[in-house]
Amino acid sequence: MKETTKILHSIPVDELTGAISTPIYQTSTYVQEAPGVNKGYDYARSNNPTRKVLENLIATLENGKNGYAFASGLAAIDAVVKLLQSGDEIVAVDDIYGGAFRLFTHIYQKFGITVKYVDATDTANVAVAITSKTKLIWLESPTNPTLKISDIEAISKIAKANKVLLCVDNTFASPVAQKPIELGADIVIHSATKYLAGHSDLIAGLVVTNTNELGEKIKFIQNASGAILAPFDSWLVIRGIETLPLRVKQHSENAQKIAEFLLTQDIVKNVYYPGLSIHKNHHIAKQQQKYFGGIVTFDLKIDDKEFATQIVSQTQYFKLAESLGGLKSLICLPCEMTHKSIPRESRYESGVTDSLIRLSVGLEDVDDLINDLETAIKSLSKKISSTA
Ligand SMILES: *Cc1c(COP(=O)(O)O)cnc(C)c1O
Repeated sequence: MKETTKILHSIPVDELTGAISTPIYQTSTYVQEAPGVNKGYDYARSNNPTRKVLENLIATLENGKNGYAFASGLAAIDAVVKLLQSGDEIVAVDDIYGGAFRLFTHIYQKFGITVKYVDATDTANVAVAITSKTKLIWLESPTNPTLKISDIEAISKIAKANKVLLCVDNTFASPVAQKPIELGADIVIHSATKYLAGHSDLIAGLVVTNTNELGEKIKFIQNASGAILAPFDSWLVIRGIETLPLRVKQHSENAQKIAEFLLTQDIVKNVYYPGLSIHKNHHIAKQQQKYFGGIVTFDLKIDDKEFATQIVSQTQYFKLAESLGGLKSLICLPCEMTHKSIPRESRYESGVTDSLIRLSVGLEDVDDLINDLETAIKSLSKKISSTA
């Protein structure tokens, strides 16, 4: 069975009624036949049939053993960190998602869990950073916003040799484009808020484990800490995943064309897209990803925040907003939005210049999207040449 078929048909038909759409079990508790005698459900924080369908679906999609649904991507990350204890160390990719950085630094550091950040595009950096205290390697690939790619399979070998867990935040790629567990990862997390739900209409997170033993630990944390996903939001994520293969394919096709268009523009300095042969990690991306995804980032030859601001405020179809992965295209200026809290110097070290613009390429007709960008760029070029 091919993947698209598998996705649609691993969502079960309701046994009770034959409903082809998953029923939303909007309940907090379940009536028991006798004390402790129930149908496998006792309290909805512990178990909910709608959430269960989503959890099984994401496990299938990632080729893992178990899936767990959380109230946000960060709650999913939080659950994985809770596998550790005081004194443990994490080795993490250096341009990690800002919210994960904040969680590690401002919450878990005070509980004695420390993090070392390395440029994981060079696998050797990961190997060197591991000590006897390291219990977890944390990767994102592609990263946000400069789309750096790490060799997940090579790093998973390092993890196994050192008996360290490897967790991959697979949000940017989506499981349709990349399956970290097949490449050797132990755990995958998602901000399902992005491509999985896909319609910019909810916040959700998922964890997938490659063994039942790890799965039971995450399940325990999910129930003990309580940051579960609600039944209706679980249903929306299921519905989103039904069209995931179609969407990721189209997001990626549109993004490739937009990246190629941006390369031809005089005022553009760097274009970051893993599908471009000039991308620094293109060969690894090609090896481990089926699609290159819907995010394209670029900056300007004149590295001026005002110029970049003019572009992001002039596009009509690319709406100015944080987040990504929805049907409608979004544009953002990381230095003033997603990466505002990062000091300028360290921001520049990871390539996030003042003029860096991130596009979440949506599913509009790509000709319209290119026209939209071209109009904004032309208007800026005119302004630059008239002031020169
Ligand atoms: C958005 C995002 C998160 C956090 O997810 P929320 O659903 O916003 O809590 C984590 N990792 C990556 C890569 C993200 O883009």
